[in-house]
Amino acid sequence: MNAILAAAPSNGLVLAYSLFPKGAYDNRPKACQGGWVELQHLFQGTWTPNEVRAGDDPKKGLPGISMATFRPRTTRACQNVMSLDGLLVDFDNGMEVETGEFHVRPDGRPTNRPKVRKVCLPDPVHPQEVMGQLESLGVAAFAYTTWSNKPDWPRFRLAVGFANSVPAELWPAALEYALEVLGLRSFVRGIDLPVVRDIARMHFLAGGPEGQEIQRWSLDGGLLAMPLDVLHRIDVPEIPLRPWQETIVRERAATDSNWYQRFHVQGKPVDFRSLDVPRLLRAMGVQVGVPQSYAGGTKWRTHCPWASEHTHGLDDDSGVILRFPGHWPIWRCAHSHHAHMGLRDLLEAYGGVL
Ligand SMILES: [Zn+2]
Repeated sequence: MNAILAAAPSNGLVLAYSLFPKGAYDNRPKACQGGWVELQHLFQGTWTPNEVRAGDDPKKGLPGISMATFRPRTTRACQNVMSLDGLLVDFDNGMEVETGEFHVRPDGRPTNRPKVRKVCLPDPVHPQEVMGQLESLGVAAFAYTTWSNKPDWPRFRLAVGFANSVPAELWPAALEYALEVLGLRSFVRGIDLPVVRDIARMHFLAGGPEGQEIQRWSLDGGLLAMPLDVLHRIDVPEIPLRPWQETIVRERAATDSNWYQRFHVQGKPVDFRSLDVPRLLRAMGVQVGVPQSYAGGTKWRTHCPWASEHTHGLDDDSGVILRFPGHWPIWRCAHSHHAHMGLRDLLEAYGGVL
């Protein structure tokens, strides 16, 4: 038995996971448990989508799965994840290209954020090469082609089970560890890394448009043992910014130390330490959640004022305000197109309402 795998046979171990029978609109995780064989059975099924809202992609009606265990009676949100018993990785094989157009402000002027579209990588990752690598390690794994798979643009999902649960806070380190020991680093180009780092992500079970054949690959073997003591010591790299984001960050560096000086309230410079960001966002028409105590300060989940720029225009509670006594508040959005943005962007776009 390989050193990275559990000594116990896979079929004796029970994995916890969550199902979302109604698909993308289903926000209530249904807690489930089963062995690797039961999971294989789920992945072997071909599922028919539930009804979707008019104009929505039919695949959103497919039942979903997450290898996360959520706190009882909560919703599918990052802060409700307790632990994860496996890895679900989407190989999208996509890369973004700029269209030459820019997102626009509410007043119609263009922002500095380009509109992008996804195209297939010049050298997409194929399921056969990933499964070949995992087979050489003796790892239990399953892969299936997804709804959007095309002969000239392969898209598939990979599942690997863990022999022990990983606590939610160790997830980014667990992902780094798994990619390394499973020998998947050379295939990372096909993965949308921010999606895999999202611990609350739901993945659709297998289904396809009429007439589309779903291909599947199943490997029997051991479950991956997750050494929690090792995970504690792993440095998790930041997800790199896109080249256009790097350009924006570089261009504004010259004014990093004084951009805030132009904001005044009743003739006086704004005291940013007491700036009421929840109120500012609400004044912008953006939803803000209830305050929660967080690491000696306060945290609010928020929506994003620029949600229309997210992939598929997803308007979720991806934003967060953090406030610690005596410090400037922090705002950020978890969507990767907004990874470079913060309080300065809020003020520069909407500071007029101060
Ligand atoms: Zn955003």
